[in-house]
Amino acid sequence: MKTTRRGFVRATGAGVLGATLAPRVARGQAPAVATGGAFDVVVVGAGVFGAWTAYHLQRAGRRVALIDAYGPGNARCSSGGQSRVIRMGYGDQEIYTRWSMRSLELWKALLRQAGRVTQFQPAGVLWMAREQDALTTKTLQTLGRLGVKHERLERSQLAARWPQIDLGPVTWAIYEPDSGFLAGFHVVQTVAQMAVASGAVYMQESILPPAGKDGLAAVSTRTGKTVSAKTFVLACGPWLPKLLPDVLGERIFPTRQEVFYFGVPAGDDRFQSPAMPIWVDFVEEIYGIPDFKGRGFKVAPDRHGPPVDPDSLERVPSPETMARVREFVGRRFPALKDAPIVASEVCQYENTSNGDFLIDRHPEWANVWLVGGGSGHGFKHGPAVGEYVAARIADGKPVDAKFSLAAKQKVQQRTVF
Ligand SMILES: Cc1cc2nc3c(=O)[nH]c(=O)nc-3n(C[C@H](O)[C@H](O)[C@H](O)COP(=O)(O)OP(=O)(O)OC[C@H]3O[C@@H](n4cnc5c(N)ncnc54)[C@H](O)[C@@H]3O)c2cc1C
Repeated sequence: MKTTRRGFVRATGAGVLGATLAPRVARGQAPAVATGGAFDVVVVGAGVFGAWTAYHLQRAGRRVALIDAYGPGNARCSSGGQSRVIRMGYGDQEIYTRWSMRSLELWKALLRQAGRVTQFQPAGVLWMAREQDALTTKTLQTLGRLGVKHERLERSQLAARWPQIDLGPVTWAIYEPDSGFLAGFHVVQTVAQMAVASGAVYMQESILPPAGKDGLAAVSTRTGKTVSAKTFVLACGPWLPKLLPDVLGERIFPTRQEVFYFGVPAGDDRFQSPAMPIWVDFVEEIYGIPDFKGRGFKVAPDRHGPPVDPDSLERVPSPETMARVREFVGRRFPALKDAPIVASEVCQYENTSNGDFLIDRHPEWANVWLVGGGSGHGFKHGPAVGEYVAARIADGKPVDAKFSLAAKQKVQQRTVF
């Protein structure tokens, strides 16, 4: 295949992934885009799931192409925000606690290797609970059983430790000191860079809805290229229903989600780590992340918004959500009552019916994997998801029923938080 200089750069993604990839765009290198089984695995989607899957596969010795329409961690994708929480607590959903534990290990190892350890901030996570709080009570039991470091704190202890929080109806809490937040899209770009540094080929291309009979031989791009491989991983987040409307059109529900950053008072460090932890109030369906690098105190409702299209969604916050979030902040963080909003993000969750991830083979094409359904909590699990997908591709074992396509219903009823 003839590869123009522009096409070649696109194929290796130097512009998107940064200078550290420069060696891979040297002139004369073999064309990355090819037909005839050039790759063992093509991973479509360089969000957190696809980037980690590509990384694990490449490290396992596969020849991997990682393809993304807009670039790793782009502003439209679900992995595109400034920051994402990694917590261990998941009620009695032990598998997600285990995956969070494993993922945190892998995040730290990769960031150490990349020389970017500050892309994980161990700010601690505070679960604020009411008296009879089933989710937090189950979380406490699971954390204890799995040996996750945590404290149970009573209201008086909370008030003494974090006087800048008005506890309102909160009577107790769990504090996870070793949990924290990851630097959102930056960290996804780091994973993609590490995959490329390990030998994966990155291409900035948009894949057309695939077509095949017994399996998929190749995917075609909007620019007219064909990329063939033995195995394909479609990790297209909220785009999965558009890419595979027959299979996923009614099983992944992309919803509008808004995030606000409040400017903290001048000279006031009470809203930054270590003075302020990440906090979660599940009853009010809202959580926040301390001010990091002066970008503002992040507050985000977790309640699902209306359906959206990730390509065309205008990323401008709604006055209704802004008013609701301002009211909450004024009530629970009194020093921020009149704080200005200094930035905002409008993103989308790509929900499955109940919040369990989708990790399964395509129902008709055995060499195609569907990986997505992060459902508002997937980011932290990128490393474990990628590891799981790479292992199933290698060993051919069936996937856990929880992650199967068959378990995904057409009506939303959230059970994973
Ligand atoms: C506001 C918000 C806050 C969140 N907070 C947290 C949190 O604190 N902790 C947590 O663990 N999780 C959180 N999540 C959830 C988490 O971010 C997502 O579950 C996760 O990022 C999903 O990643 P993904 O790789 O599946 O999808 P995406 O990140 O959307 O990646 C999909 C990629 O596929 C590409 N693509 C799509 N179609 C094509 C095509 N045809 N050809 C080529 N490429 C294509 C896109 O460009 C995109 O880059 C949050 C989500 C949102 C929106």
